[in-house]
Amino acid sequence: MEEFLKKIINKGDESGNEMVVKFQLPSGLEIFGLPTKNYYGGHWDLGPTWNFVVMADKPFLVDAGRFGQGKILVDMMVSAGIETNDLGFVMISHGHEDHDGGLAELVNSTDLKVKAHRIYDLLIRQYSGQGPPGEKENFPAKCWHCPMPESFYTKNCLEYHQVLQDVKVEQIGDGTNELGRDIQTVHLPGHSPDCLAVLLSSEAIIVGDIVLPDISPWPTQEALYGEVAGVIRPFYEEAEAVFGLGRYIKSLKKLDEIAHRYPGIFVLPAHRFFYSGQWNWIRLSDRVNELIQHHKQRCAAIIEILQKGPMTAVEIAQEHFPENLLEGSGNFMAENEILSHCELLVKNGDLTAVDGNQYVATGKTNYEKSIEL
Ligand SMILES: [Zn+2]
Ligand SMILES: [Zn+2]
Repeated sequence: MEEFLKKIINKGDESGNEMVVKFQLPSGLEIFGLPTKNYYGGHWDLGPTWNFVVMADKPFLVDAGRFGQGKILVDMMVSAGIETNDLGFVMISHGHEDHDGGLAELVNSTDLKVKAHRIYDLLIRQYSGQGPPGEKENFPAKCWHCPMPESFYTKNCLEYHQVLQDVKVEQIGDGTNELGRDIQTVHLPGHSPDCLAVLLSSEAIIVGDIVLPDISPWPTQEALYGEVAGVIRPFYEEAEAVFGLGRYIKSLKKLDEIAHRYPGIFVLPAHRFFYSGQWNWIRLSDRVNELIQHHKQRCAAIIEILQKGPMTAVEIAQEHFPENLLEGSGNFMAENEILSHCELLVKNGDLTAVDGNQYVATGKTNYEKSIEL
């Protein structure tokens, strides 16, 4: 895949922070990689967020970095020789803060139009009377599930959500030529309900967080649907249409189809593209297979742990993950991972939920058929 690497304009650091790099596809289409700093550190470090500028007939940007990075991203574009006036729009790959945090700042300083999936447009808005009662009443729908304490979100998130309210979004997803000639979006939910990949004819695919090298993207829980059902039900009647590990696996299978249709397709991921001083090139079919094996193994491990007796997701996480991954917010990430796997195992009859939040093993391998490629 090295052949697509055309020029390193700024070297950046070991993790790829503030690197500026130009890729070129066989057709001649140029893509700039502009990784902006992220805040997840420690044992769950994702590395920077890779934003991309695609120099199509109407050039566009994919993603806007995290909150506070909008202006820095503009500077990076300038250093790559890109005039923001030449860009037609910015497309958001999904509504996580490390991808749309810089959006409002970017839009306000450039007048760029915004395109994103319909669910994104719906979830960044406030719905008075529909949110959880209390301090979060006036938060946008995408944050209703957030488990962080008030002190955290007042300091870290409040401004980000407030400025996003004013951003106008053109809804896209699964359309033909909506981003340009031979450029299509593919709606691949699971990591987030609004995840879009961008297929650049048969040559390349920008995958956001749907597939990453090195690390496995975390799946959502179907349980999250309940909180936002009032907002998205008119379009998606069931949780499994856009949430959960089962939906994520389906998205991976769709990517596997694309990989077989276009062997050798160049994959541009949103994290760890360059990390620890080296490039992590992705062979799409191989990586999809690795991720599927990873989730199969985790399912098997949970069933194995539950042979000791009934446990809660937190207890399973403590048995399954090494201690250093359970520090601070790692605890929440680990519990989410276990819960999304437990949902899939319950559906397949391998686990049964008892006494509210405990699980018992009631099967061994039923889950395999729903995960296998
Ligand atoms: Zn994400
Ligand atoms: Zn991300």
